[in-house]
Amino acid sequence: MNLDAVQLQWKPSRFNAQSDNDEDGLVLYNSYTGAIASFSGEERNRVLECLRPEGAVGDHDAELRSGLIEHGFLVRGDTDELRRAMFLHQSMHAQDTMHLVLLVTEACNFRCNYCYESFPRASMRQEVIEGLEAYMEDRARTLNRLTISWHGGEPLLVPHIIERLSRSFMASCERSGAIYGAEMSTNGYYLTRERFEQMLDLQVERFMVTLDGEGAVHDTRRGLHGGGGTYQTIVDNLLSIKEVDRPFEINLRVNFDNSNLDSVSRFIPVLRNMFGDDPRFKVYFRPVGCMGGENDLNLPVCDERTKDIKIWEFNKQAIAEGLTVSSFISDTLLPTGAVCYAAKPNSLIVGSDGLLYKCSVALEQDNNRLGRIHRDGRLDLDYDKLALWTTSGEETDKDCQACFFRPACQGNHCPLFRMRTGQRPCSYEKRQIKRALQTIWLQNEADEARHSS
Ligand code: SF4
Ligand code: SF4
Repeated sequence: MNLDAVQLQWKPSRFNAQSDNDEDGLVLYNSYTGAIASFSGEERNRVLECLRPEGAVGDHDAELRSGLIEHGFLVRGDTDELRRAMFLHQSMHAQDTMHLVLLVTEACNFRCNYCYESFPRASMRQEVIEGLEAYMEDRARTLNRLTISWHGGEPLLVPHIIERLSRSFMASCERSGAIYGAEMSTNGYYLTRERFEQMLDLQVERFMVTLDGEGAVHDTRRGLHGGGGTYQTIVDNLLSIKEVDRPFEINLRVNFDNSNLDSVSRFIPVLRNMFGDDPRFKVYFRPVGCMGGENDLNLPVCDERTKDIKIWEFNKQAIAEGLTVSSFISDTLLPTGAVCYAAKPNSLIVGSDGLLYKCSVALEQDNNRLGRIHRDGRLDLDYDKLALWTTSGEETDKDCQACFFRPACQGNHCPLFRMRTGQRPCSYEKRQIKRALQTIWLQNEADEARHSS
């Protein structure tokens, strides 16, 4: 079609969401493009005018309108956005990317009071390590990107396994030209500066470390197996890591429930004093949930309303104090950004004994045990179980199909939640989209002020 020959009709995208900001302006978001844009109080009404169905017609405010078109807030009148979303969903089946979550040990040196793991197995077996090396040597040939998540248990109990597998994966990716990257969830107890720099050399550049409050509060929640506090060791490690002059990202996760709401608030200035001057350290507040652990019935978990409110209160306070909030929030708003790895066809969890899983929580659930990896690199996979985890979202859920957040979530934010409750697993970011957008706007404002000072 000759676009110049016709007066194009535009319509607001069905994937738009908006929020006010604190300066009478507007924050706009589109879940299909992932664009987030903020507008001043002066621009606000002009933007809203352009986004009205009838305002999208005509050629007034051409410059503003072309910006809205470029970022997907306005789409051509004949665009079938539902088909676009379906196509995006299918694109997750592309074979050129892979994400492996490796449980290099299922043992842990901590016993957190809300933990759901049962620690049945220890270090990754030799035949599993060899199997992973052989599998990736072959698989990397068809990959553009490989991402490894080092998990446990506590992965730093077995740094020699991480080193061996990292070197093998890096070599396989280098031979095939695939991009390699890795991240790690660790309790931080063994994350000394020396160990940290070794991990950076192995291309682990994004870490998640949990601190649940000041010393005594953290220690009652996240003590050592066999007793003893962990706070001071973790903090000492983090402060020594701060001296490392290399790029990295450490997300300081703060878990909250009814028993530590006040102490989290008091902890934010403490974190600010330690890490407020270094945006490589970011904070990430998350509510404790009942995940099937033996202590579930005794956990003082917050109700849904409290969780939804507190997350954003803590984030707002943290930004006001000068901390940087984790990019996990803005990442969740990207296309496919809220989809759990369990729902992604090219993502697998490998247990220390070689069992293959989709979900890292329900390790004992039969339909989450998909098969195993063999010493020669062969994968035995039950494709019916694989399909169960990867097709339970927007394919059959009419509400998800109509949801403004569909391109980001695809009905798959947590397949386990849907399986166990029969309900839609909407994320906090979707349920509280206005607060999420305000938080991102506040962080951007703070970043700009930091850069200009
Ligand atoms: S399915 Fe749910 S519980 Fe399992 S890993 Fe994904 S988000 Fe976590
Ligand atoms: S699970 Fe919730 S957020 Fe996700 S697509 Fe469905 S309705 Fe939307």
